[in-house]
Amino acid sequence: MRTVPGRTDRVVVVGAGLAGLSAALRLRGAGREVTVVERATGPGGRAGRVERGGYALDTGPSVFTAPELVADALAAVGEKLEERLTLLPLETTYRAQFADGSHLDVHADPDAFAAEVERLCGPGEALALRRYLAGLAELYRLQLTTFIDRNLDSPLDLLGPELITLARRGGFGRLSRYVERSFADDRLRRLFSFQALYAGVSPYRAVAAYAVIAQLDIGAGVWHPVGGIAAVPRALADAAADAGVEFRYGTDAELEVDGPRVTAVRTSDGERLAADAVVVTSDQPWRLVPGLRAPRRPVWSPSCVALHLGVRAELPGQAHHTISFGESWRGVFDELTREGRPMSDPSLLVSMPSRTDRSLAPDGGQVLSVVAPTPNLDPRSGGNPQLDWTTLGPRYRDEVLGVLEQRGWTGLTDAVEVEEMATPLDWAAQGMAAGTPFALAHTFGQTGPFRPPTLPRRGPENVVLAGSSVQPGVGVPMVLISGRLAAERITGPVPR
Ligand SMILES: Cc1cc2nc3c(=O)[nH]c(=O)nc-3n(C[C@H](O)[C@H](O)[C@H](O)COP(=O)(O)OP(=O)(O)OC[C@H]3O[C@@H](n4cnc5c(N)ncnc54)[C@H](O)[C@@H]3O)c2cc1C
Repeated sequence: MRTVPGRTDRVVVVGAGLAGLSAALRLRGAGREVTVVERATGPGGRAGRVERGGYALDTGPSVFTAPELVADALAAVGEKLEERLTLLPLETTYRAQFADGSHLDVHADPDAFAAEVERLCGPGEALALRRYLAGLAELYRLQLTTFIDRNLDSPLDLLGPELITLARRGGFGRLSRYVERSFADDRLRRLFSFQALYAGVSPYRAVAAYAVIAQLDIGAGVWHPVGGIAAVPRALADAAADAGVEFRYGTDAELEVDGPRVTAVRTSDGERLAADAVVVTSDQPWRLVPGLRAPRRPVWSPSCVALHLGVRAELPGQAHHTISFGESWRGVFDELTREGRPMSDPSLLVSMPSRTDRSLAPDGGQVLSVVAPTPNLDPRSGGNPQLDWTTLGPRYRDEVLGVLEQRGWTGLTDAVEVEEMATPLDWAAQGMAAGTPFALAHTFGQTGPFRPPTLPRRGPENVVLAGSSVQPGVGVPMVLISGRLAAERITGPVPR
């Protein structure tokens, strides 16, 4: 593994999102002097928080998985997760709601889950489920060590028995076919392939290896951090500060380069932070790092409209997380990734964390977040720059709420007290490429050794990258890992 040459005593991390915090904790734990510079007024980045009218709205991720990665980041400075965060395991990971009116509760307990599948789809499918879940866990284990939790400098790094096993298990075929072979019931096929969208690809184009994304949520379980997902970056930042990491919030970083190295980070409020190494976690690092090249023919993930609501209603009977599937399926992916059109019959992720955590909403109220995948703004990635979200956004919001009313969230629209909406234009205004918060899609050519590495080959020799735009990829678990990988480019490998 290549590492940053020369002195690395003083490190500046740009960005206090989950990737930056994960890197900062590891670097501090390894004895580096660490300063984090963040443009926003607090930590979290995309895992943001808005508080209004007594409602606490998480504006980024809603599905929190793999808490062991947060524990591992905290352990780097000798801290214990349970002393910083309270995590509640969700017994029902998701409620899958289908267009035919049926629903299926995904239970964290495999026996309860199999019983639910047997009730809805019959004993053959329950048996198929048990087989599938066992295979998924094994596939994940294989991929974690070869692809995911590892700095990759070349495709050759992958060569080994695990790669052969992965190929033998059909990991490089199509995800849709892999799932179709495993299940006869269309509802289960959807349940185990919608996660491909988290990775920015249609299951009809994704390779089967991406089936493992379902291991993170359905296989290994989903937790709720008390206080909302924003409590996670808050806990990491507090632990980092207590361990001696310095924070500069509300200021923009720029890099000062001298010859082959960055020598300092300058903040927009006039401070000069001398640096031996820098970790950059911004969405488009090539905009910040002189000499760094943007990917040549990038394929960006689809984007989303995220709608966060504080509602004065009980909404009885609704689950913490619901995947509300429309009738249309293949057509949805075509609209999002080829035709550049909003979904005509949307499949939506609806989260209601106040079902589990009453600290998030006033009495008699609930907080809801609705994520509706949309095309991004880049026509070369199947997106559409012509969609005028300034006028389309409010109409789309009404449409999404109307769909949810029809699908059982009766009275939702009239109960809205506070709301926040983000469209692809908002993501673009925050500096995210192609107006998507989900970065480079996990196409085959942008995954593993083909995704930008944490230590670029061009640009200053002491700049390391972390976050969704680089290895291993997008989502809370992946960016926490990328922080670990970035830190190892500075400290050298740390035994797992
Ligand atoms: C609506 C939505 C829903 C999501 N749902 C899920 C989910 O359910 N589960 C899941 O696992 N993931 C989900 N994700 C993805 C997940 O939130 C992200 O992958 C992750 O939070 C990205 O973290 P990061 O640290 O890489 O980037 P960021 O959080 O963007 O952090 C980068 C930070 O760098 C700062 N910065 C950039 N440039 C500069 C500069 N020049 N100077 C100073 N600071 C700078 C930015 O302000 C930002 O705070 C979701 C994302 C969104 C937006």
